[in-house]
Amino acid sequence: MDYKKYIMSVMDFPTTGINFRDITSLLEEGPVYQSAINELAAFAKSKNAEVVVGPEARGFVIGGPIAYSLGIGFVPVRKPGKLPREVETVSYEKEYGIDTLCIHKDSIKPGQRVIITDDLLATGGTIEATINLVKQLGGVVAGVVFLIELTGLKGSEILKDYDVLSLIKY
Ligand code: IMP
Repeated sequence: MDYKKYIMSVMDFPTTGINFRDITSLLEEGPVYQSAINELAAFAKSKNAEVVVGPEARGFVIGGPIAYSLGIGFVPVRKPGKLPREVETVSYEKEYGIDTLCIHKDSIKPGQRVIITDDLLATGGTIEATINLVKQLGGVVAGVVFLIELTGLKGSEILKDYDVLSLIKY
């Protein structure tokens, strides 16, 4: 399917000079959303995924349905102060300052095969931090999936050691 035609591009959002790729216009189209999830889920299944991990918030919109369709668990990665139980944390550098992400410490068993997902790969900082959390818990990264990859930003170099599927590339 030509998923790209369902992505709206919004110039100068959230700040001047950014061409924001908006996935909400794809999510609004039920059969298109379903087809995209089915493709990502088939890839996850082919990697023998046992659990899906995704960072808030758009990683939930992609990862939740993949987990549901495979009948496996979904583990959220969240900003500090959101998860109620004991967490593992990782901090990483963003364009403006440091960000921290958290995961429940007991959410992944050592050796478990994990599919990591987000809506979009840009510089790769968010997904690298998520991978590090999974590894800190002893999980095995079975694959990484996105709706969109911005190829100009070299996030794929960070992921060169992993099996990656991106449905749309810019
Ligand atoms: P990265 O950490 O630089 O790879 O940025 C990826 C994160 O930023 C993802 O969680 C995306 O949701 C968000 N993001 C960055 N650029 C865009 C965009 O153009 N559209 C939608 N989300 C974006």
